[in-house]
Amino acid sequence: MKEKVIGVFYDGVSSVPQEVALNFEAEKCVFIFETTHNKTYSWELASIIFNEKGSVLQLQHGNDPIQILKIEDVQFIDDLTVFRNKNGHIGWYQKLLNLGIKIHLGFALFIFGFIGLCYVYFIPWVAEKSVVLIPDVYDDTLGNTFFEQNTFLGTVDAKKTKVLNLFAKELKLKNKKKLKFTVIDSDIMNAFALPDGSIVVYTGIIDSMKDYEELVGLIGHEVAHVNHRHSMKMLCRNLSGYLFISTILGDANGVMAVLGENANTLQSLSFSREFEYEADIEGFKIVTSNGVNPKGMSTLFKRLQKENNIVIPEFLSSHPVTADRIRYIDKMIKTESFQSKENSKLQRLFQQIKE
Ligand SMILES: [Zn+2]
Repeated sequence: MKEKVIGVFYDGVSSVPQEVALNFEAEKCVFIFETTHNKTYSWELASIIFNEKGSVLQLQHGNDPIQILKIEDVQFIDDLTVFRNKNGHIGWYQKLLNLGIKIHLGFALFIFGFIGLCYVYFIPWVAEKSVVLIPDVYDDTLGNTFFEQNTFLGTVDAKKTKVLNLFAKELKLKNKKKLKFTVIDSDIMNAFALPDGSIVVYTGIIDSMKDYEELVGLIGHEVAHVNHRHSMKMLCRNLSGYLFISTILGDANGVMAVLGENANTLQSLSFSREFEYEADIEGFKIVTSNGVNPKGMSTLFKRLQKENNIVIPEFLSSHPVTADRIRYIDKMIKTESFQSKENSKLQRLFQQIKE
């Protein structure tokens, strides 16, 4: 590359530009030039900030005052860029700037994609795992809030509620929370568990049952959801965007407020495949440890899935029953060892609920 080039120098003190003859000493990596006032300057390449504006290369040097040199010789600018590149004088940021618009767009897309993925997968995952940080007592508050917000749930069938609670009392449910069963008079084929240990069962799903074993299967499944705080975890997952912002702002009350405002969605939460699997496995164990035949779980789910073709039971949207679930329950019935015998007391209470 040529070693001499004409530049325009601003000394940082006066606004008057001075044309100067620049000497570039490649071996020492230094620019040397003399002003009209016979003052000599020596700028090391490493101490210069380079800025390309259109076809002009601007070299900035020093802090107090800031001195500027402008070079317009296109060939020299190109040669200097190559030289700096070769000699490691261009930092990663400058290199990035030199890559051009397409690469920049690609890079921006990558960053946005990454943020998007975080938002869709990583933040909900973190929110779900952070449930351990939410005090257990808040599960109770949320359960109460749900009932306050859902006065439209339907009429509580007091008699059936009482019998269902007696039915559940006959079972060892491995529950970590005090359980409270409520039967709602409605054709809706659903049952759901709230974080506080409340389990709501509609007469619609009870009416479809043929055997008390099916009711035990349903209870085992719902209790497992309570034991694992599944509804709280799903709620946190669904609201992770808001929770993330509240957490960043250090607003603990905001976190609780967001959860409380969305308590009414607890009823229609759709559990993940992983949670359904967990609830089925634990539900199965609850059923067999009570000496009840787990085939009731399988027959109930099969019937619900069959009825899915006629009318979609809400149970299927909140607890998605897939062929896969029925398959592994049937497999467990075949492979797990358990003993079951008819339980006349449960049978009698079941008949009373069905009346
Ligand atoms: Zn479920």
